[in-house]
Amino acid sequence: MIGTSGTSTIEIDRAGKPRALIDPFQRAITYLRVSVTDRCDFRCVYCMSEHMTFLPKADLLSLEELDRLCSAFVAKGVTKLRLTGGEPLVRRGVMTLVSSLSRHLRSGALDELTLTTNGSQLEKYAAELKDYGVERINVSIDTLNPDTFRAITRWGDLDKVLAGIDAAQAAGLKVKINAVALKGVNEDEIGDLVAWAHGRGMDITLIEVMPLGDIEESRLDQYLPLSLVRARLAQRFTLEDIDYQTGGPARYTRVQETGGRLGFITPLTHNFCESCNRVRVTCTGTLFMCLGQEDAADLRTPLRASESDDLLQAAIDDAITRKPKGHDFVIDRRQQRPAVARHMSTTGG
Ligand code: SAM
Ligand code: SF4
Repeated sequence: MIGTSGTSTIEIDRAGKPRALIDPFQRAITYLRVSVTDRCDFRCVYCMSEHMTFLPKADLLSLEELDRLCSAFVAKGVTKLRLTGGEPLVRRGVMTLVSSLSRHLRSGALDELTLTTNGSQLEKYAAELKDYGVERINVSIDTLNPDTFRAITRWGDLDKVLAGIDAAQAAGLKVKINAVALKGVNEDEIGDLVAWAHGRGMDITLIEVMPLGDIEESRLDQYLPLSLVRARLAQRFTLEDIDYQTGGPARYTRVQETGGRLGFITPLTHNFCESCNRVRVTCTGTLFMCLGQEDAADLRTPLRASESDDLLQAAIDDAITRKPKGHDFVIDRRQQRPAVARHMSTTGG
C-alpha cells in the first residue's frame, strides 16, 4: 500500500503501478456499472420509445468478453460492480456471467456484486443470485396500480414484478426500490409507494426524469421536480436528513414514522458530481466516464486486439484521465432535444 485518496486505499500491483483509478479531480473510481444488454422486455415511457431499434447481436460483447472487461476493472481497484441494462436478466446466459464474476467476491477483490432490474424475471433468478453472492439488488417500480404500471412500462405486468420482489426477499436478498417521479402519472401515489416499501423493509429512492435519448413524449411533460415531491411528502411524513452516502447522486432522509430510508436523486436541481466514484460501460464495450456527457472510450477494440489485458488496461487508464468534473443536464423549454442522445438503457441506469 502506498497511500490513500478520499476513502480509498491505494494499492500497488506486481508491476509497481497503482491499482487505483484516480481521475484528474482526485476522485477514486471504485464503482463500475455495466450494461449487459440494450434490450428490455418493457418499454418505459421515460426510457424508451415504443419502437426501439436495438443493436445487432454481433455488436455486443460476449459473456466471456464482459467478464474480461469487468475483471480488468476489478484488477484496477474497482470494488463494486453493478449489472444493468436494458434489462440485465433478459440477456441470455446472464447467470453464467454472474457466476463467473462471483469469484472476485470470494477472493475479496470485490466488496459487492449487484444489479438493477425491472423485476420481471426475478422470480426465476432470485435464489440463484443469492447463491452467487449477490446480497442486494435494486428493483424499479414506479407505481402499485396495475393499470398505471402498464401505462408507464407499456408492456409490463405488475403482478410478475411483485412476485419477483417476494422471491427476492424470500431468498434473503435486500431489495431497494427505485421509482421515477412522473408529473400527472404517479405523483399522487408516491407517499403510498414510500409507505409500502418501508412496510416491507425496503429502502426507496425517487428519481427525477433525466434527458437521455429520444422518446415519443416530451420530457418536459414528464418532469416533476423532487423538491416539490419532497415538500408534499413532508406534509405526511417527518423527513430527517441523514448522512448516508453511497458516493452516488442520492441524498437520503429517514422517514420517522416508518423508520425507513428515502433517497432523492435530483440531477437537474442539484449537483452531485463532486463525490462521483463511478463509470459506466455499455454492452458494446464503450466506456462513459460521465452519464451526462458524450465523451467515451472504446474498450472493445483493445479488448479484442490482444489476449493479454495490457492494451485494455492502458485504454482504461487513459479514459479515466478524461473523466469530466460534472454533467450539464438541462431540460430546456426552447430546446426540446435530449441533453444526451443515447438512452439510459444504452448506458445503464
Ligand atoms: N431495466 C432495469 C430497470 O428498469 O431497473 C435496469 C436499467 S434502467 C435504465 C435503470 C434505472 O433507470 C431504472 O430505475 C429506470 O427507472 C431509470 N431510468 C430510465 N430512464 C430514465 C430517465 N430518462 N430518467 C430517469 N431515470 C431513468
Ligand atoms: Fe426497460 Fe428499465 Fe428502461 Fe424500463 S427503465 S424500459 S425496464 S431498461
